Amino acid sequence: MNDFSDVIKGQVLRPGDDDFATALLPFNRAVDQSGVRAVVIPEDADDVAATVRHAGLAGLSVVTQPSGHGAAEGLDGEVLLRTHRLRGVTVDPERRVARVEAGAQWGEVLQATAKYGLTGSSPVVSVTGFLLGGGLSWFSRRHGFGASGVRALEAVTADGVPARVTADSDPDLFWALRGRRR
Ligand SMILES: Cc1cc2nc3c(=O)[nH]c(=O)nc-3n(C[C@H](O)[C@H](O)[C@H](O)COP(=O)(O)OP(=O)(O)OC[C@H]3O[C@@H](n4cnc5c(N)ncnc54)[C@H](O)[C@@H]3O)c2cc1C
Repeated sequence: MNDFSDVIKGQVLRPGDDDFATALLPFNRAVDQSGVRAVVIPEDADDVAATVRHAGLAGLSVVTQPSGHGAAEGLDGEVLLRTHRLRGVTVDPERRVARVEAGAQWGEVLQATAKYGLTGSSPVVSVTGFLLGGGLSWFSRRHGFGASGVRALEAVTADGVPARVTADSDPDLFWALRGRRR
């Protein structure tokens, strides 16, 4: 069986590697993640899909964390996929739509959208984690759940296949990914 480093362009760190202890630190330092098997830092979406496929073949679980704001105990033996390098944000002010990569934080979206009068949430929380949990921001009384504004999600399914998920393409998965009630 190949190693993760054989199937991705990004970085793979294991116990004993110089940067391993730093790479696994979550924002919430109260949580100990030192028992993870490896930290995988993808360069792009293809790396994410390859990581999920490879972990599946090896019988390993993958946990995704852009920032570790919501870190919880219990990751021993798992593969920690850190998406914090995937930071691209593009804004279409006419359509009032932003395309945000998996590791971007709201601060980056706020910077890109403020000049158009568009808004987001706490600057240090990642957009993906916030929206996957429904997302309540300072603007929720007026605009509702952040997840209500999601148009599409580019996801990798559990068998490692990239998928663009919308309300039309897969209503059940679209609902589940937004972490909220209908
Ligand atoms: C200072 C602070 C301010 C906050 N403010 C708010 C707020 O205003 N409103 C609010 O609703 N919440 C708020 N929260 C809570 C925050 O939204 C949640 O903790 C959110 O889940 C953090 O997302 P994250 O990606 O930064 O954290 P992470 O812990 O890195 O990720 C959170 C969860 O999302 C999952 N996840 C992230 N990316 C992916 C992905 N690409 N694929 C699959 N799963 C993924 C992770 O596995 C994890 O379960 C705040 C938290 C903090 C610490």
